[in-house]
Amino acid sequence: MVSPQDLNDLKIQTLKHFWGHTAFRDSQEEIIDAVISGKDTVALLPTGGGKSLCFQLPALILEGTCLVVSPLLALMRDQVFQLKNNGIEAEYISSELDDFETEVIFGRCREGITKLLYVSPERLNNPTFLQNIQDIEISFIAVDEAHCISEWGQDFRPSYQNIKNFRTEHAGIACLALTATATPKVLQEITQKLDFREPKIFQKSFRRENIKIFTDKISDKYQRIHDLLRYSRNAGIIYTRTRKEAEELTRFLKNNRIDNVDFFHAGLTLKEKKQKQNHWVTSPDQVLISTNAFGMGIDKENVRFVIHFSSPASLENYYQEIGRAGRDGQESYAFLLWNEQELDNFDQLLKYQIPNKSEFTEVITYLYSLFQIAETDLPEKIFQLHIETLKRVSRCSTGKIKNILNFLHNQELIFVNSSKSLSSLEMKIEPYEIDLLPRKDAYFMELLLRNLSGISTHKVMFSEVNLSAKIGVDVLLLKERIRELQKSGHLEFIDGALSSIKFLKHRDDRSTAGKYWNLFQQIQKNKLQKWEEMKFYIRNQNYCKMRLILSYFGEKVSNDCGKCAVCEAKKGHSPTSITEEILNILGKQACTADEISIQLNHCQKEKILEHLILLLDAGKVKMLNFRTYALP
Ligand code: ADP
Repeated sequence: MVSPQDLNDLKIQTLKHFWGHTAFRDSQEEIIDAVISGKDTVALLPTGGGKSLCFQLPALILEGTCLVVSPLLALMRDQVFQLKNNGIEAEYISSELDDFETEVIFGRCREGITKLLYVSPERLNNPTFLQNIQDIEISFIAVDEAHCISEWGQDFRPSYQNIKNFRTEHAGIACLALTATATPKVLQEITQKLDFREPKIFQKSFRRENIKIFTDKISDKYQRIHDLLRYSRNAGIIYTRTRKEAEELTRFLKNNRIDNVDFFHAGLTLKEKKQKQNHWVTSPDQVLISTNAFGMGIDKENVRFVIHFSSPASLENYYQEIGRAGRDGQESYAFLLWNEQELDNFDQLLKYQIPNKSEFTEVITYLYSLFQIAETDLPEKIFQLHIETLKRVSRCSTGKIKNILNFLHNQELIFVNSSKSLSSLEMKIEPYEIDLLPRKDAYFMELLLRNLSGISTHKVMFSEVNLSAKIGVDVLLLKERIRELQKSGHLEFIDGALSSIKFLKHRDDRSTAGKYWNLFQQIQKNKLQKWEEMKFYIRNQNYCKMRLILSYFGEKVSNDCGKCAVCEAKKGHSPTSITEEILNILGKQACTADEISIQLNHCQKEKILEHLILLLDAGKVKMLNFRTYALP
């Protein structure tokens, strides 16, 4: 039995030795103590609050292996990589590992060497895993991103519900749930669905003291962003709603001599994503313009600003995204650019994307029939997904189809891959049959067989660019030939540049029209409700922005933040000091009102314009053109 003093020493020494930190942050130590004492625990800490340490450190101190349930392979990979870098024995299991590699990992867990084993929630149902885990001593289960268990949230992952069964079958192992989404409703769902008994709940205030929040009503967003970036030499993120917006904004800024920007979205290849992300993480002043595909698991301390080019769909998303600014505690900014027209457009878009029941069931029926999947069937292969074809046959809009597919994907009925990836090829005839083909085809098949070993027996991933260079055939021609041979049934080809789909559950029309339609409807209702709340937040100019957010998360707060746009407006600057500061700035160089506003710590532009008009009247300032002001 370790004495309390010894345990305290051990915690601090472990913290210093493996992480190099000198002290715990608020609530970290209490959470760690609760986990060590074997209590079911919920840790609700804001993004950047230091959640990982709350399970990683007890995992080192306790006997056995901590099982970490995590929703994304990318997250697991990053964390395991970092842990190994710190000298900690951690592993993850995923389908990308072969049987031998997996067996080695299980062996290390059995011997008690591996202290943290990361798995996806689906893995908890896998027979091989369940078989192996029987011989492993599990210290506790850490459930990362625990809000994924919430049925009405946007990140809902049904397989998080496997955790409850898993615990029951393993003598109620203690469990730590961690999340940065903490509406009272989500908290209740977490404790209930994970079957927590008398849980210890630690909820750190979500208030962030170092983020200044602005919601700018503005029509020319391009100009505003250009002005914001022109004076900045800091790292930041700009969130856009669509991939196209991210690319166009990047192009505009580059064309206007702002070079430290790049775009990022889910449509890029893994390699491109990695390369762009690494560049951003290591650079002190790179700005990434991205859809919300970017951010989860990002650990960059010196992000000075997050700009929302368009509004996110909910306050949860918004707060999570702006929470990526100022993790180092330094003053940082969050700008949300909006106008009424766009809010209306998004209203329309949301409603337009919601199908009625017959559209919902028809799209799903067509989806199955396009691939000739009968009731109760579950094909194993991956198909090429052409949304245009589905649109044509179902006569439903792209928005509705995408919404339905997205829902099916989140419910794990299908897996849609829309990232650019390698293509795959498999021969559907026996090698001896090649000789029976017309000469031209036979020659081409031989060529493929020689250059892509394995295609005669299984699916082989390959890059068209590399193959075309190798065999000296133009890429387009190569693809055309492959497609021809696919049509005649000799090859099975999946184009990695297009979306693909894999069915994960047996076709079950009754469930589609019954339980899945009900769930779909509920999720849509929820989405609309969250958007209404978001709009209220954006438009409201009376309440402190931070306070509005915190009360949305169920925090009762009594004081304003004193630094958001609303608080600043309430405070008001002394008129003489603003006048003096404007004259000071113009004394250095001619500026637009936007530029003055930025240099004045984002003092409201309207206020600056009022002062400029008075200064113009008094002849203390002149106009160089209809935008730029200077001293006379
Ligand atoms: P979260 O998962 O809550 O978003 P992380 O666990 O990624 O947060 O931690 C955020 C950052 O804070 C990381 O860079 C981490 O190294 C740092 N951190 C965590 N705990 C401490 C501590 N006790 N002292 C100093 N830095 C810490």
